[in-house]
Amino acid sequence: MLLRIFAGDESAIVSAPSPDKEAMFPLIISGGLGLPLDTDIILRWRLLGHFASVLVSAPNSSLLTSLKMIAFHPQEMMAPEPAYLPGMDEDIRNRVMKALLDRGENIWKFKSHWYKCTCGYSFFIGECGRPMEQAKCPGCGLQIGGRDHNKTQHTTEDDETDRSPAGYVLPTAEKDEKHVSFRDIPASSARAIRLLIHSAMFLGVVSSTKNPMPRNFDDIINDDSMCTMRSACEAKYIADHWKNDWKQMVELLSSNVEDLAATLHNLIGLISTQSNDNPKQAAASGSSGAAESVPDWSTLTLAKRNSW
Ligand SMILES: [Zn+2]
Repeated sequence: MLLRIFAGDESAIVSAPSPDKEAMFPLIISGGLGLPLDTDIILRWRLLGHFASVLVSAPNSSLLTSLKMIAFHPQEMMAPEPAYLPGMDEDIRNRVMKALLDRGENIWKFKSHWYKCTCGYSFFIGECGRPMEQAKCPGCGLQIGGRDHNKTQHTTEDDETDRSPAGYVLPTAEKDEKHVSFRDIPASSARAIRLLIHSAMFLGVVSSTKNPMPRNFDDIINDDSMCTMRSACEAKYIADHWKNDWKQMVELLSSNVEDLAATLHNLIGLISTQSNDNPKQAAASGSSGAAESVPDWSTLTLAKRNSW
C-alpha cells in the first residue's frame, strides 16, 4: 500500500471515509485533486516517503525496529508487558523534583519526599521530607501533612518507584506542550523523537487505508493518561500531531523547512545505518547491555533509560 501511495496512486486515500481522508492528504502530491502544493508539503511528503522505505527495509538489528513495530505491529507491543514508547512523558514526579531543585530549593536528596492522602491525592514535602505543616487535602478535605515530623492519620508515604506511563499517552496535538521535555533531553531532540514516532504511526495508518478505516493503535493507548485517541478519528489525531511536531521543529531550530528536511534526512540516514546504541558506562556495568546489539528500550526502567 505504501509503495502504491508513494508511486502516486492516491485512490485508496481518496476512497477512505472523512475525516480520515482529509487527514491523509499530506500523502497526496499528484496534483490531480487541486490540493495546495508548496515546498513545505513536498518536503514533508519526501521525508515520509524516505522514512517509509527505511522502516520497511529495517533489519531486526536496526535501531529503527522499535519504530517499525509501532508503525506496523502496534498490537504486539503491549503483551506480555506493556512497552514504553519513545517520546512519551516520564513520571511527572521526576519533573516536579527537578524543577524544585533547579529553583534552588533545599531538598534533601536520598530521602523520601512523596506522600499521599487516603483519597489517593499525591503531594510533595520538601527539605528533609518529613511533615511539618498540616493542610486540607484538595482532593477530599481531610487533614494531610503533619506536625513535628509526625504525619496525620490520613497521610501515608508514597513509594518512589518510577511510574512513567507505558503505551501512548499524548493528549491531542493542540494540547501538546510547546516545549516538550523528558529525561533531560533538549527540547529540539525531544520534539524530533516525537516527530519520528508520529511519522511512524502516520505511515502505519496510511498503510492500512480502507473504508471503513481499521483502528491500529487502540491496543497501545494508555487509558490512565490524557490521551483521547480512542474516542477520536485515529488518522486525524496522528496527522495533527505529525504536523504540529513538524511546525514546532522549524520554530525550535529557528530555521526553515529545507534545513529541517535536510537535518531529518541526515538523522534517519544515521539511525538506519547504525545498529549499535551502546549505553554509557554506568548502564553497562553490571549488565550485559553492551553485549546486546539493540537495547530493549521498551522494558528499560527510568534509571537505565536516563543513563543511556
Ligand atoms: Zn484526600
